[in-house]
Amino acid sequence: MKNICPVCGYDGLEEVPYDNDGNPSYEICDCCGFEFGFDDDSEGVSFEEYRKKWIKEGAEWFNPDIKPKGWDIKRQLSKINVQL
Ligand SMILES: [Zn+2]
Repeated sequence: MKNICPVCGYDGLEEVPYDNDGNPSYEICDCCGFEFGFDDDSEGVSFEEYRKKWIKEGAEWFNPDIKPKGWDIKRQLSKINVQL
């Protein structure tokens, strides 16, 4: 069972971004590159701010090797109810 990234909607996270006690996974999203417990903490950015910046910079995959063929950012973002 994979988990969904609250920043970009990618549904391939190995860990839950935050457990029931709010502890971050420190996993880096393969898609948007957000690191839970790091990007949100040290830089204090919100998911929305990070997402906007990521999209503005071209929505590049953090791990382009696993980017699916025909990947559609709009469809992915719709999973977290975000419209482009
Ligand atoms: Zn992500």
